[in-house]
Amino acid sequence: MPSLVNMEVELAVKGFLIDQEKMAEVVERMTKELKMGLAKDTHPRAVIKCFVTYVQDLPTGKERGKYLALDLGGTNFRVLLVNLVGQSDIQITSKSYDFPSTLMTGTGKALFDFLAECLAEFCKENGLENDNLPLGFTFSFPLQQQGLSKGILVAWTKGFNCEGVVGKNVVQLLQDAIERRGDLKINTVAVLNDTVGTLMSCAFNHPNCRIGLIVGTGSNACYVEKTVNAECFEGYQTSPKPSMVINCEWGAFGDNGVLEFVRTAYDKVVDKVTPNPGKQTFEKCISGMYMGELVRLVVVEMIGKGVMFVGDSSQKIQQRWSFKSSYISDIESDGPGEYRSCNKVLHELGIIGSQEADKEALRFICEAVSSRSAKMCACGLVTIINKMNINEVVIGIDGSVYRYHPKYHDMLHFHMRKLLKPGVKFELVVSEDGSGRGAALVAATAGQSKPKM
Ligand code: BGC
Ligand code: MG
Repeated sequence: MPSLVNMEVELAVKGFLIDQEKMAEVVERMTKELKMGLAKDTHPRAVIKCFVTYVQDLPTGKERGKYLALDLGGTNFRVLLVNLVGQSDIQITSKSYDFPSTLMTGTGKALFDFLAECLAEFCKENGLENDNLPLGFTFSFPLQQQGLSKGILVAWTKGFNCEGVVGKNVVQLLQDAIERRGDLKINTVAVLNDTVGTLMSCAFNHPNCRIGLIVGTGSNACYVEKTVNAECFEGYQTSPKPSMVINCEWGAFGDNGVLEFVRTAYDKVVDKVTPNPGKQTFEKCISGMYMGELVRLVVVEMIGKGVMFVGDSSQKIQQRWSFKSSYISDIESDGPGEYRSCNKVLHELGIIGSQEADKEALRFICEAVSSRSAKMCACGLVTIINKMNINEVVIGIDGSVYRYHPKYHDMLHFHMRKLLKPGVKFELVVSEDGSGRGAALVAATAGQSKPKM
């Protein structure tokens, strides 16, 4: 209990401090929901959908060739050219495109026209217009897949809300936009979730990788399930391939109310101001899009009560979403009694004349929010590992929160260790460029037919 932290602050963040018992309860409830998503008869009413991805082969390390990839659904939109030259030689050329925020809530047509335009520009810059390269589309939203290259958007998440896309096949929408232009020959051979790209990319170098995790703007995981358990896949009993990658879409966990026992009043406020209230409950407790706002809400309340920053507020901190989640990583990067990054954040927020006690309180609030995120994520991973019933696994991970938060990896590891059965070995590995490499690898395996897992 840091002595510089006011009792009011401690009281405010109390709800974020989840104990071991509650974590075990989260695992128990999540296990139930995960199984419901997987089973055919309960799938329609399940909240954790456990979507079949049609990815049944993990990479062998022998995949070769040139592929295009699109990456939509994270911090920025990217087009990539991936050349699989050898297992330790993958050449990637990529370009990030400024994604006008108006596109996030505009029409679907405007969105896909923009994607096609960036793709065309990229191909021209790299002399690829006539190469007819296979494309892997990393589309990081819940998709009901009907094949490797067919996926119906179930709902938008992470602040996206484009009209006319839910219920449609996003691969078709992309191909239509490409054809409307008429200046490109591109064949979209696979659509995949970012978690799947992350799994594939990690599995290319770590043969024991069976889980892909994203803790970034949003949060989600996928894992390798036995095909016979993937009941929503038509061929689950007859498929010659033993495995099926399942996109859990765990962000929706709690949308039926089962997480109320760990949610705080701040979570409810954040939920209300999102474009998808009542949805993605678990994700809103975990991911980068929401963590900063949670911290901001606590801080603003403390300012209002006069217990932080001597009740002196700045205009900026009163604005919704003004506290970026990267600030949390920055603030927690300062050593004990040190406030270099914290001072920078306060400066950006226009807060002047703060005392050491204010900075300690701010860090305390950040720690409460980030450690709850790591705990919830640990619960999710433990749920999956228990379900898989394996004793050893590598987890490939990507996303800004995992990458840039100074303690996230350690916290995640610590809480998983505490929740897992003794003897279960696991490794948390940063996965490099899942949306690019991973997309290329899925596109590459799209052309194969022999069982590879
Ligand atoms: C989406 C998932 C995605 C995750 C991480 C969530 O909002 O529903 O499909 O994997 O964000 O990007
Ligand atoms: Mg990404």
